Amino acid sequence: MRRVTQKSETLYQKACRLMPAGVSSPVRAFKSVGGTPLYYSRAAGSRFFDADGNEYVDYCLSWGPLILGHAHPAVVEAVKRAARDGLSFGACCEKEIELAERILSAFPSMQQVRFVSSGTEAVMTAIRLARGVSARPKILKFEGGYHGHSDSLLVKAGSGLVTFGRSSSQGVPESFAAETIVCPLDDEEALAKIFESHGKNLAAAIVEPLPANNGLLQQRVEWLQKLRQLCTQHGSLLIFDEVISGFRLSFGGYADSLGVRADIITLGKIIGGGMPVGALCGSKEIMQALAPLGGVYQAGTLSGNPVSLAAGIATLEILADDECYVKLESLGQTFDETLKKETAKLTFVNWRRLGSVLWLHLAEGELPRTADAVRPEAAERFNRMHPALLDRGIYLAPSAYEVTFLSTAHTTQEVGDLAVEIARALK
Ligand SMILES: *Cc1c(COP(=O)(O)O)cnc(C)c1O
Repeated sequence: MRRVTQKSETLYQKACRLMPAGVSSPVRAFKSVGGTPLYYSRAAGSRFFDADGNEYVDYCLSWGPLILGHAHPAVVEAVKRAARDGLSFGACCEKEIELAERILSAFPSMQQVRFVSSGTEAVMTAIRLARGVSARPKILKFEGGYHGHSDSLLVKAGSGLVTFGRSSSQGVPESFAAETIVCPLDDEEALAKIFESHGKNLAAAIVEPLPANNGLLQQRVEWLQKLRQLCTQHGSLLIFDEVISGFRLSFGGYADSLGVRADIITLGKIIGGGMPVGALCGSKEIMQALAPLGGVYQAGTLSGNPVSLAAGIATLEILADDECYVKLESLGQTFDETLKKETAKLTFVNWRRLGSVLWLHLAEGELPRTADAVRPEAAERFNRMHPALLDRGIYLAPSAYEVTFLSTAHTTQEVGDLAVEIARALK
């Protein structure tokens, strides 16, 4: 059944005249999966309608924040109530304290939090804070990690053994990129070498403890422990970027659930419940280096915005009930069992799932743990499958390198259908 997408197409053409590629963020332009981006007109729970009136089950969910689904009634009510009391104060409000308490209660090793407006801003501030506290210039990141779009982090591995970064975006001077060192994931030896050569200049290492922006590259606990040990040994701070993983798999951080501790944690997405929020957390000692107590400057007109905080508080209030994570795991198991059954003969269908995050890697062999190991044919298969799923009313993120999110709003039936339709499209 072909859908009619006339209105989305017309809107997109108009948008392309007014905005570069018609979008406010690049992957929304559907460049890799082809076709026209859909215009969302309204959404509730697991579903949305596009401008032409087609209905879809949404598995992109705004790229992660909507763990309760679209427009959860309690979150919308909290937002409405907050909005009536003022859209922005640019001053202190009690909601900051309430969300801070909720977040810190879930991160036992963290003592203080500062609120900002996006994940990018949280990470950018965390890097500056680490440099300020350590009085060292360099940072270490990992190939396949995404940490938002600040200059220090738009860096990819250079050539040669010791990997000074090269900028991965025009507009980032090579001299900035040279302050970032890039290392492959899943490789203790490469890690040890880098610390040996650069340890005393390294302000911080930053990693997604569950890398989820270049496929789902789950790391071995031993590797994370090695990274922790090397940071401690060399006096570098360890930053866990939990913008996606925070509150996704349990009420708190993914790394905490593995028993590996960071010095600074960055959050975003779920803690804003669908509204713009980011946060960084650390020990009191580290956080006090931020202005006005310390010399590391950071500020924000809309930081601690009361409407965003209200959405975050309402979301965390619901998530504090363990039932949410039990339900998400059970939906995930339905997906696994159904897809396994439906694709028993298709040896190239592989996937990795942790709780409500899953990633299809449509290629034979082991699931990758490094960016290098992601197979190009897996992306080609995904790109062909994506439009077929749209025709069946299923919306996955429009890129093979993005993960699929389940929410508490999805039903067992929907998630079973997802697996059946994926299998059908791939056959
Ligand atoms: C989404 C994301 C960011 C950036 O957050 P924005 O709110 O998009 O700026 C940073 N780090 C990770 C791990 C993310 O998934």
